[in-house]
Amino acid sequence: MTVALSPEHRAASVARMAAEPFDIVVVGGGVTGTGAALDAATRGLSVALVEATDYAAGASSKSSKLIHGGLRYLEMLDFGLVREALTERGLLLTRLAPHLVRPVPFLWPLTRRLWERPYVGAGLLLYDTMGGRRALPRSRHLSRTRALEVAPALRPDALVGAVQFYDAQEDDARMVACLARTAAGSGAAMATRVAMVGLLPLTPSGRVTGIRVSDLLNGTDLQIGARHVVLATGAWTGAGVGSAEGELQVRPSKGVHIVVPRHRIAMDVGLLTRTEKSVLFVIPWGEHWLIGDTDTEWPYDAGHPAASRADIDYLLAKVNHMLREPLTADDIEGVFAGLRPLVVAGAGRGGAGADTTKLSREHSVDSSVPGLSVIAGGKYTTYRVMARDLIDAAVRDLAAGSGGTGTTSGSAGGVGAVGAEGAIPASRTDQVPLAGADGFAELRAAREQLASSAGLPVTQIDRLLGRYGSDVTDLFDLMARKPGLKEHVPGSGPYLGAEIVYACTHEGALGLDDVLSRRTRIRIEVRDRGAKAASHAAELMALELGWDGSRMAAEITGYHELIAADLAAESMPDDRSAFEAATRHVRGAADSASPAASPAEPTS
Ligand SMILES: Cc1cc2nc3c(=O)[nH]c(=O)nc-3n(C[C@H](O)[C@H](O)[C@H](O)COP(=O)(O)OP(=O)(O)OC[C@H]3O[C@@H](n4cnc5c(N)ncnc54)[C@H](O)[C@@H]3O)c2cc1C
Repeated sequence: MTVALSPEHRAASVARMAAEPFDIVVVGGGVTGTGAALDAATRGLSVALVEATDYAAGASSKSSKLIHGGLRYLEMLDFGLVREALTERGLLLTRLAPHLVRPVPFLWPLTRRLWERPYVGAGLLLYDTMGGRRALPRSRHLSRTRALEVAPALRPDALVGAVQFYDAQEDDARMVACLARTAAGSGAAMATRVAMVGLLPLTPSGRVTGIRVSDLLNGTDLQIGARHVVLATGAWTGAGVGSAEGELQVRPSKGVHIVVPRHRIAMDVGLLTRTEKSVLFVIPWGEHWLIGDTDTEWPYDAGHPAASRADIDYLLAKVNHMLREPLTADDIEGVFAGLRPLVVAGAGRGGAGADTTKLSREHSVDSSVPGLSVIAGGKYTTYRVMARDLIDAAVRDLAAGSGGTGTTSGSAGGVGAVGAEGAIPASRTDQVPLAGADGFAELRAAREQLASSAGLPVTQIDRLLGRYGSDVTDLFDLMARKPGLKEHVPGSGPYLGAEIVYACTHEGALGLDDVLSRRTRIRIEVRDRGAKAASHAAELMALELGWDGSRMAAEITGYHELIAADLAAESMPDDRSAFEAATRHVRGAADSASPAASPAEPTS
């Protein structure tokens, strides 16, 4: 059943949280937390999830948006991680989220004449075959002439040939909202703008009994009783909300992307190219290219990762090395920065002193405190495995009744054993399509009829199907009732009024930033960062969310402050000055509800 994440659903969820004890409380509404809520709910456990800001407000809306095995990890001989990620890629493409995840072709330009082609070719052959049954076309070798036909934007002297291969991509923030809806449809109580502020008193034996939270919409405090608490707080892990967060430590690593118009780079494919420390992606994204990313340690507040001028200059220099017509800062439409929650202590390679590019992308689950499990690390692509391992750990603890099981790494969770131990079923999320997946193929086959019955161009139907899947019929009903919502929102690019309204009525959006940054991607896709669209979107939201004039004005002002913060940071030479500029602008702005807002000092 698909549930609407409406304001009424949030109110009912918060009321349940205050009244009922739950089997599991999940803290954090990124891809890992929403995935964990779905995993637990579909095992028949009672679940609540609290998110301090908005679904996907952390790293889960700032990724490269690739569902991939990670060719880089193949080179690091991390075969287990690559195989696992490719298996998940196949599942998402075919069964779980075929509406949200789509194939994307990439070119890997070769620059050295002799050894590189067999080396890259062998790696890609392995990549083609590792993930089990093939969901994507195989890689193929291209001569320089053929590569330049496919990618005329490339400088002829920048390559001697190329290999073309396939990976997959999605809109990361939308997929999290979809996971949240799917979890709610399975019975989970879900609420954003609810921050965990601490643990409830432990039992005499030291067992966690629940969490204390603050409802940031009205400033009230509540207590949520739980048999087990799971923390999926990404880069905030260890920020001190739980007095006992186990042994996991994360070292946030900042990644920055720039967004440029599609017409500025004449290519039919994406591009992957090596940099000194890592790789650079040029990824097709609707009418845009995403170019990223960077990988540098971020010692400041996790709530405000900021891109500096140095990050932007670095990305422009790297991509321009390949292009006939170099990009300039004037081509940039949007910029975004996120933090990878890389694990330092416990399992995983690397340590406190290691370069962040060398730290493992595997995940770790720590269950050393009875009644509490903490997860960190991992990749978006493997969210389902992470969620399964986290809930497996919780179930083991529930079955044991007390005591933790230590730290496990990667996919060490014994799924079968959990079922046997606790009489709680093993994870079944590999069988649970996300909201909008069922019926998607049939609707896509009927796209032309849909276009004529909805009175929209086929291109718009394709775009909507790729964002909503079969739930697009809800939007058609809405537009049939209110034909004005078929209009584009001025200053928003392709987005329709109906999408803004639907974000509030069905997708849990509570503020202007939720809609412009995550339910739509106006903040990174439109050159003015959504400044013009803000007032139009706010008017539509006000009707749905009951905002009065002053609330609407505050939302618009808050959003403009966020844009000003981004722009101020982007003009600064380094991370410290970018962070200071960004935080100066957002003090008191709409996203100041971000967890663990902290002073302008490095946290390590
Ligand atoms: C630049 C970059 C590029 C990437 N590219 C890819 C890619 O292409 N493919 C891929 O597979 N992976 C990629 N990743 C990795 C991936 O994005 C992350 O591993 C993943 O999104 C982490 O999700 P999460 O849910 O664990 O953390 P987050 O998404 O950060 O979620 C944590 C949530 O916890 C909430 N929270 C924190 N404290 C509290 C509290 N006290 N109370 C309530 N809520 C709280 C936060 O508000 C936040 O929403 C990339 C990461 C980055 C940074």
